Amino acid sequence: MAKVIVIGGGVGGLTAAHELADRGFEVHVYDTRPAWGGKARSQMVTGTGTNGRKDLPGEHGFRFYPRFYKHVVDTMARIPSPYGANVDSHLQATTEAAIAMIDDNGWYRFDRKKLDTPYQLVDVLEIFFQDLHFDAEDAAIFGARFLQFATSCDERRLAEYEDLSWWQYLDAAHCSASFQRILKSIPRMMVAMDPQTGSARTIGSTSIQIMMDFAVTGSHNDRTMGGPTTMMWIDPWTAYLTSKGVTFHPSAEVASLDVAAGAISGIQLGGGGSATADYYVLAVPIDAAIGMISPALAALDPQLATLAEQSAASLVDWMTGIQYFLYEDVAIVRGHVFYPDSPWALTSISQPQFWRGLGLFRKTFGDGEVGGVLSVDISEWDVPGVLLGKPAKQCTRQEIADEVWHQLKQAINDPDDQTLTDELLKSWHLDEDIDYSGGLPPVNHSRLLVHPPGSWNIRPDAGTAVPNLVLAADYVRTYTNIATMEGANEGGRRAANAILDRVGYAAGDRAALWPLVEPAELDRARRFDKWLFDHGHRHLFEVLGVRQFVRAADMLRKLDGILGITTLDAVFDKLKVTSLIKAILEKLGIPQGA
Ligand SMILES: Cc1cc2nc3c(=O)[nH]c(=O)nc-3n(C[C@H](O)[C@H](O)[C@H](O)COP(=O)(O)OP(=O)(O)OC[C@H]3O[C@@H](n4cnc5c(N)ncnc54)[C@H](O)[C@@H]3O)c2cc1C
Repeated sequence: MAKVIVIGGGVGGLTAAHELADRGFEVHVYDTRPAWGGKARSQMVTGTGTNGRKDLPGEHGFRFYPRFYKHVVDTMARIPSPYGANVDSHLQATTEAAIAMIDDNGWYRFDRKKLDTPYQLVDVLEIFFQDLHFDAEDAAIFGARFLQFATSCDERRLAEYEDLSWWQYLDAAHCSASFQRILKSIPRMMVAMDPQTGSARTIGSTSIQIMMDFAVTGSHNDRTMGGPTTMMWIDPWTAYLTSKGVTFHPSAEVASLDVAAGAISGIQLGGGGSATADYYVLAVPIDAAIGMISPALAALDPQLATLAEQSAASLVDWMTGIQYFLYEDVAIVRGHVFYPDSPWALTSISQPQFWRGLGLFRKTFGDGEVGGVLSVDISEWDVPGVLLGKPAKQCTRQEIADEVWHQLKQAINDPDDQTLTDELLKSWHLDEDIDYSGGLPPVNHSRLLVHPPGSWNIRPDAGTAVPNLVLAADYVRTYTNIATMEGANEGGRRAANAILDRVGYAAGDRAALWPLVEPAELDRARRFDKWLFDHGHRHLFEVLGVRQFVRAADMLRKLDGILGITTLDAVFDKLKVTSLIKAILEKLGIPQGA
């Protein structure tokens, strides 16, 4: 069977290795780091575990597995767990989420709702607006634009929305300041996607998926892992891959790819030495990949040439985790908390409540004094904080810890309820990829793709035009279309499939891929929009000037009644008899009866 070298042992690279090793390929994985899992790996705090307990669990950032993830969960289901059954069985459903505001002592807790009614998405939006007491005008604009996105066909999303930021698409500049803050915070749960710079197509599609997470109950809602990621998933994964014959080469940076006779002829290792294989999987992050595309390689594939021309700094941003180790557990809610008006765009989760399967936290980890861990992601590194008045990029590690703790206390505590107190805090851990060895400002070795407008057009497919090179990481073009573990896993599967195609592997045996599923209730409206798009028309709401959520939702319901038929001819038969559709036809300049 063919030999494959995988460069990068994050989720993308390990997924490609998994699919290929399961099919009998000889696989070698190289990574610069001594540990596996890339951005998803845990960072146990060395020397903090005593008397047989494990070291305290640090990490790059907390891990969240929304309901819509399928690829990652399928992979987990194929990895035996030392804690019983397979890795996927240790995913834990979060049953709540919360929004904590600094400026009004407000606390908004969301239960996961079960909505069996039609128009779940519309109903979810209504609940969202009511619970947050949004300004009616803001809610009207956001709701209408969101429903327009949800009822737009894929072709329109790519042609018209990909090049806009989510901010531009929503016309957020005309919303109130408080609404702008909420808008900025919600997408940050997924990745460092600033709606002011992230593509409307990516953020809109992902927002639909997240909204729908609120619409169903059960274990496949938003999930988190029942323990530190490396312990529960990455270690069992590398053990499984080793059992399938995969060879791991840790602390082995690949310095360059050799090109000869129109293909990759080998890799050069940073520490000296080289290696060759039949196929190569480049599974490094987008900024590292850009640096590895030599002119000789770019000459073999226009997509690689386009990628090589990009400035990495314009595609990536900072998002990093910090964990607070507390004497007592503070659960807050059973799920994630957003802090929309925190200057550093914080989100958090209190972890021990999901890790009960490992035993009491203080008996399992640390020196026996730590009972809780509050894991926080910082998504904004360029805006001054409230305690020190400096952006995170200008702060020392201690200053970052102090500032984030201060912002959390401001949002969580209120005059009658001091939930987070300084007496609770024993220690903290800031992501080790924030590197201060050169002094201030630090360097971040794990920046993340933030999907700027139009970036889909410069992102390559997993299968390149180079006959023995494929790409497997979170930036390659996928259904998932967002830099996440799910996107990286899908990218890894696509890379493996490209190799299977090239070796002529048995047809029909390919790694499974799942397109995103959107609310079925809106299918007919999306098909109608496809017809409008194909005929050169704008979206129905734009044609009719609908900018109000209530009108838009009402129109959708009516339209669905009209479109509740299968063929377009029949649609237009029905259209002729309703005043709503007469208006549409008039605006579109379509003669009635056409
Ligand atoms: C703070 C934070 C929180 C996040 N939270 C979530 C979440 O909750 N849910 C979610 O789904 N996603 C989350 N993500 C995103 C997710 O972690 C990443 O999208 C995903 O892990 C990327 O996987 P990857 O394999 O594409 O890349 P990486 O994980 O970056 O792996 C690439 C690997 O390549 C190695 N490498 C680089 N250059 C070389 C070289 N020259 N030679 C050899 N090896 C090399 C690196 O060391 C690394 O191990 C989060 C990201 C961040 C930053």
